[in-house]
Amino acid sequence: MRCKKGPSYEKQAAGVRVKEKSVNVTYSEEQLDRARDILHAGPLCDECLGRAFARVGRGLTNSDRGQALRAALPGLGKTGVCWVCGDLFAQAERWAECAARQASELEFATYLFGVRLPARIEEMEVFFGQRFPGKEGESLKHAFNRVVGKAFEARLQRPATVAFVGPDLSFVVDPAADHLALHVASVFVYGRYRKLTRGIPQTKWPCRRCRGRGCVCCGFTGKQYPESVEEWIGTPLVEAAKAETVHLHGAGREDIDARMLGHGRPFVLEIVTPQGRTLELKALRETINTNAAGRVEVSELAFASRETVVHLKEERSAKRYRAWVEFDRPVTAQQLDQALGDLCGKIEQRTPIRVSHRRADKVRIRQLLDASGHVVGPRKATIELEGEGGLYIKELVSGDEGRTNPSLSGLLRMGAVVRALDVLEVRLDMPMERTDAVDKARTLP
Ligand SMILES: [Zn+2]
Ligand SMILES: [Zn+2]
Repeated sequence: MRCKKGPSYEKQAAGVRVKEKSVNVTYSEEQLDRARDILHAGPLCDECLGRAFARVGRGLTNSDRGQALRAALPGLGKTGVCWVCGDLFAQAERWAECAARQASELEFATYLFGVRLPARIEEMEVFFGQRFPGKEGESLKHAFNRVVGKAFEARLQRPATVAFVGPDLSFVVDPAADHLALHVASVFVYGRYRKLTRGIPQTKWPCRRCRGRGCVCCGFTGKQYPESVEEWIGTPLVEAAKAETVHLHGAGREDIDARMLGHGRPFVLEIVTPQGRTLELKALRETINTNAAGRVEVSELAFASRETVVHLKEERSAKRYRAWVEFDRPVTAQQLDQALGDLCGKIEQRTPIRVSHRRADKVRIRQLLDASGHVVGPRKATIELEGEGGLYIKELVSGDEGRTNPSLSGLLRMGAVVRALDVLEVRLDMPMERTDAVDKARTLP
């Protein structure tokens, strides 16, 4: 069987016609002796015989090679089930058919097959390699995956190529369980978001009471908060890609009650099990920004990869904040300036009380890079702070009962608390923003 578009594994060689069996390949005496030994060992399929000589001759399938060898060694015909693969290759077309059916509704450009060999076949394959060692062979798995792949391609009405790294679709054939598993790779979309309203969490939180099943407390939504940045951005993308769900991977997260302003926070939205992979990102951005107007806003979107998520999570970016602070005694501009000046530098911060239930209790050292402020009332000030990634700002101001040192409260010797907080900038160097995407990604209306 040949596919219309041409198999991506091997170039089809002129003059090799499988049906006529006029296979044009020459074997040496030594190779024929080896083939004779192999055939004497028991019934073997053409694929298994041929793959023992997979490097001999070009533009041939292993089946071609097997048939040619058999023709050259008359009287050593195949009788019975192949003792190595148990006639696994005879099922290749059926698996390909099954895969094509599963893929029929999916958009994809690349695929990969894998096979979970039954233990007995695995053992036989090892034994076969030991009994008839040679440098010209191809493993059973490799050969089978290719044969099924070619048969799969032949059934498609559109072009698709095998990809050994990061395929859109990956199939795993499990002959013992008579099951074909399909994994659809996620689509990743990069952007920056701004959160213009307080009270919106970054990601969807399941209701604490019912853990997402839906109860009276959450109005049967299963959610702790009615909205999230993840949903505002993700919903149009889920619909467009006919996907199962989305996961928002942010470069850190702001508190629920903090706004995210400036150029926004870098994120990658992972679209899980998408049926479609061609997304009109420009139009989708507009939809998101219209739907979430005044609440969430995204910059230019771009296709990304899982590596982008890793980069996003590994980088600890410096951030700039604005905080509205309230003191329990009056503060002069001079006192504030002095304290903020003294505050810059090394900060020792023990895991804050408010996150201690989900974070390990330890002392972290972070730098406060810059601090300035204005007194705006007798006991009120707005301050701007720039800190290394991981610095907790609310605690830097309050002192967190002595767990953060130094702190603004400690330096002023009075109580200080953050009443409102904005993240003004997330300083993260994203490779994808270094090209012409830079200005686009940083330009928010
Ligand atoms: Zn076989
Ligand atoms: Zn609930």
